Amino acid sequence: MLFNDYQYTRPDMTAVKAQFDALLDAFKAAPSAAEQSRLLADINQLRNDVETMFKLVQIRYSIDTTDKFYEVENDYVDETMPLYEGMVSEYYKALVASPYRKALEVEWGSQLFALAECQLKTFSPAVLELLKKENKLCSEYRKLTSSAEVIFRDKSYNLQQMAPFMQSPDREFRREAQLSYTKFFEDNEAQIDRIYDELVKLRTAIAQKLGFDSFVELGYARLGRVDYDAALVAGYRKQVLEALVPLATQFKEQQKSRLGVDRLMYYDEPLNFLSGNPTPKGSAEQLVDTAQQMYREMSPQTGEFFDYMKDNALLDLLAKKGKSAGGYCEFINNYKSPFIFANFNGTSDDVDTLTHEAGHAFQVYSSRNYELPEYIWPTLEACEIHSMSMEFLAWPWMESFFKEDTAKYKYNHLAGAIEFVPYGVVVDEFQHYVYQNPDISPEQRRAQWRAIEQKYLPQRDYEGNDFLERGGFWFRQSHIFFNPFYYIDYTLAQISALEFWHKAQCDRAVAWQDYLRLCQAGGSQSYLKLLELANLKNPFVDGTIKKVVEPVEQWLSETETPK
Ligand code: ZN
Repeated sequence: MLFNDYQYTRPDMTAVKAQFDALLDAFKAAPSAAEQSRLLADINQLRNDVETMFKLVQIRYSIDTTDKFYEVENDYVDETMPLYEGMVSEYYKALVASPYRKALEVEWGSQLFALAECQLKTFSPAVLELLKKENKLCSEYRKLTSSAEVIFRDKSYNLQQMAPFMQSPDREFRREAQLSYTKFFEDNEAQIDRIYDELVKLRTAIAQKLGFDSFVELGYARLGRVDYDAALVAGYRKQVLEALVPLATQFKEQQKSRLGVDRLMYYDEPLNFLSGNPTPKGSAEQLVDTAQQMYREMSPQTGEFFDYMKDNALLDLLAKKGKSAGGYCEFINNYKSPFIFANFNGTSDDVDTLTHEAGHAFQVYSSRNYELPEYIWPTLEACEIHSMSMEFLAWPWMESFFKEDTAKYKYNHLAGAIEFVPYGVVVDEFQHYVYQNPDISPEQRRAQWRAIEQKYLPQRDYEGNDFLERGGFWFRQSHIFFNPFYYIDYTLAQISALEFWHKAQCDRAVAWQDYLRLCQAGGSQSYLKLLELANLKNPFVDGTIKKVVEPVEQWLSETETPK
């Protein structure tokens, strides 16, 4: 069945609520574990029905934001979402309080209960109004940045359109592009300072109302982190500083001599080779055909998966007028179908989408038969392992995408994976400081950002740019505004992805079996248990980063660096 034939009808939320309440009352009054299990399945079917419709709306609206019908439906989803989330919350309350909890945990797994308990800690009706304010502040930042007009060489661009200019082999050109990009944030400094300051104070107030010491603990609970805390993450950052930062700094030194500059400026960093960054060869349609060939050769499971995506039109990849920006992967519950959304533009991002987002999609495809919606996706740090590892598992096929640029692509990908980690850690350490010290001024906050940057990115040279020297770089990092504490997840997953890269170099069959097992487990287990299941090292254990980094360092030193 084609995606376009998936049937949408607006769920009547009054009727849904009545049905939900009736099932929940029956659940609470059920005389046995078996009866509760049966009702639990009914409740989940109702949830799947609602979520299927919500997702169809969100996907179709993002494909064409000028579609009047789905625009109205999208507003309806936005309005009714809090009501729906309230219903799920009531269900979680009944679930964790069940007198048959032990038996239910045996049947459905304990992760469901851990997640439910975590979610319940993040909400009470007393914070509802504050949550609405938090959403409003996030929307303010989104509106400001998505309507940005960057004036560059007498023409106007949005922020996304500036990315290719900032990678130009022409030094003066990329320098001006960076300055124009940065100027947008400097021009809006007072407004962004105000938005973030209000967000920090508001989130702190929400946390205190919910009984937390600071927003740090609430931030972790919102992300469903059931088996690690801020102290473990701090230890991980220390490992990164000691075992990874020296290598990343060395790569920057090499980049400096490759580019033939005497100081590697911040605007030089996005350009890796004097001859230009690698680009995929062939049209967007050809890339999809190449990807199909790759997934068929990679394994029977990936071949079946990608054919299914193509045959059912579950890929919307080309940039079109009226389409939302960015890329994502969704899962449409009742059809048990992943969906991949992207905006191909002829850069290497297109291939990354076909490997990264397809990694996410392959994981949900592999775990699609779990009855519990909670077990389709794992928590976010685990989710990114599937996607980032798939990027590396796709290495043997990169020749067919990049042709003469293959060596450049591989060097970039591997060195870039290492270089990304210190930046990710800066974003994380900054947020811990901010939420542990919610009353400091915006100036103090920025000064702290700059100090943390100097610790983890010692080579970063802003050429005396006043705004960036005052610590303004993070204004562009939307995660800091929308999803506090999420960013470290990319770095944790990167460590596991590098492990998969090394494993695949040594024994591809073993690496593939571990990867497949991880994807099939979906979200049925917590992060640390999933790592164990996939034979991956725990990044929080001292010494892990050193062990993971060593083979990367070796490979890069033995491989001739492209020019
Ligand atoms: Zn991802």
